[in-house]
Amino acid sequence: MPAVNESVPTTSDVRVAIIGAGLGGIAVAVNLKRTGTASFTLFERASGPGGVWWHNTYPGCEVDVPSHAYSYSFTSYDWAGTHASQPELQQYVEDVIDTYKLRSHIRFACGVQAVDWDGAAWHLTTDESEVLEFDVVVPCLGMLSDPRQLDLPGLQDFEGPVFHTSRYEHHHDLGDKRVSVIGTGSTACQLVPALAEQVGHLTLYQHEPGHILPKRSRPFTDEERRRFRKHPWRQRIARFQIFYTARKLREALKTGTPESLRIHQRCERFIAKTVEDPEVRSVVTPQYAFGCKRPIFASTFYPALNRDNVELVPHAATAVTPCGIVDAQGSERPADLIVFATGFKTTQYLRRLEVHGEDGASLQDVWAGEPSAFLGMTVPGFPNFFIVYGPNTNGGWSVITQLERQAELIARLARRLRRHPKKVIDTRPAAAQRFDTWVQRGIAKRLSSLQSGCANYYHTATGKNVTQWPHSHTAYLLTTRLGWRLGLYLRPKARRPRQPDETPALASVAAAP
Ligand SMILES: Cc1cc2nc3c(=O)[nH]c(=O)nc-3n(C[C@H](O)[C@H](O)[C@H](O)COP(=O)(O)OP(=O)(O)OC[C@H]3O[C@@H](n4cnc5c(N)ncnc54)[C@H](O)[C@@H]3O)c2cc1C
Repeated sequence: MPAVNESVPTTSDVRVAIIGAGLGGIAVAVNLKRTGTASFTLFERASGPGGVWWHNTYPGCEVDVPSHAYSYSFTSYDWAGTHASQPELQQYVEDVIDTYKLRSHIRFACGVQAVDWDGAAWHLTTDESEVLEFDVVVPCLGMLSDPRQLDLPGLQDFEGPVFHTSRYEHHHDLGDKRVSVIGTGSTACQLVPALAEQVGHLTLYQHEPGHILPKRSRPFTDEERRRFRKHPWRQRIARFQIFYTARKLREALKTGTPESLRIHQRCERFIAKTVEDPEVRSVVTPQYAFGCKRPIFASTFYPALNRDNVELVPHAATAVTPCGIVDAQGSERPADLIVFATGFKTTQYLRRLEVHGEDGASLQDVWAGEPSAFLGMTVPGFPNFFIVYGPNTNGGWSVITQLERQAELIARLARRLRRHPKKVIDTRPAAAQRFDTWVQRGIAKRLSSLQSGCANYYHTATGKNVTQWPHSHTAYLLTTRLGWRLGLYLRPKARRPRQPDETPALASVAAAP
């Protein structure tokens, strides 16, 4: 990885608060550091960096997208294999932080509770009730960070341990235990094969099966690693090839296309080849179009269902007793421990951060249950507030590419603010509305499979898709490089002279080594 020069913040710097030190927050920090136009502090509620890769440590946890694509474009890395495991991704994050000398900017175990706009600046309140002032706030809270644990009747009376995959409890001795896993999404498909080897018996509750494609992950040979290290351009070519091949997957998200049918059949063949029991084969076969649920990439999940100590229950778990789980058919099975592999509250953007913009308006009230944002990043009436991984930005094959485009735009906007210290950047309501219409039309046209009759995590209670980016990544690149000018504009900030002792955030950064 390239070295980076340390820049010393000056009083003319724009003061930026980045909330969240996952891959999104770190991308923003690297871009601000490289352009040197802002002083910034990263606030992270956890005691370490990495976001999802810090929180998810369950057995088998790894990336779905090949590592050469699931990594930043601004740096090359010596990956051990095609798909990185959680420990390797955690190490990657640590290495990026050290390469770009970001550690001194990060405040770990320091959550942010609220941010309030006073007409000229943001006031940020931490979990410890510390209040700090910033010019710009960049929430990078992720989309898969708020665990969704089902509130099943009787759960509080269950006698054994219960936890969610993103808060995995490693200290339990599972040798002779009957473990129940609820959910069969991407996480469960990674967890089950690894867990089945550790437990006495594993019962898996499936509400609805997903489309699963083989992952084809493998370690790189020493020679391959040597070549990638010696010639970083080889990594860039590998990255390009991965994105180019992934185009087909996007085409398959439109119902009725030959590509959609072809992949559905490929999934069926994969089942026929790997699942031994005909009854199990039938219940793991999806009855809806490919792409309705997020596709899963897993080579070891179906073979795990052939094990003697694994039982697949093709029904949802509906209730818990002190020693077991009751399924939707009313059958109870014993359980000593329950793991919820039930995903995340994906549609409730920034739910855990109180945001008040112009005239004290609450962001959640403005959204009224249907989050939307211009470029997925800005909301009218919330000046200098740039969301990373916000509404309708999930896509682009590897989400990191989307996060990077957002981080680059934020660095560009920070530069503008530095040139115009008496102004703020706000969003034109009409442009935000037009953007939302364009996105929703794109979803209806290009992602029709997402509404083809399955349960997925893309829609709000009202049925609006608020998570997915329907267009190509190139289209997102163009909107963040050029299209932003249609919606973002500079306007004067309210007059309020800043006092010399009113710069705690800058002071904390300046004090860093
Ligand atoms: C198991 C798993 C596998 C995945 N695999 C892939 C994949 O293969 N390909 C892909 O493209 N995407 C994948 N994803 C999606 C993943 O969310 C993104 O790739 C990416 O890591 C998101 O980074 P982020 O920084 O936006 O969010 P996160 O990684 O979720 O980071 C958000 C951070 O904000 C912190 N935070 C939250 N609230 C506060 C607060 N109020 N104050 C301070 N800190 C706060 C959290 O502690 C967290 O560290 C996967 C997700 C999971 C969970």
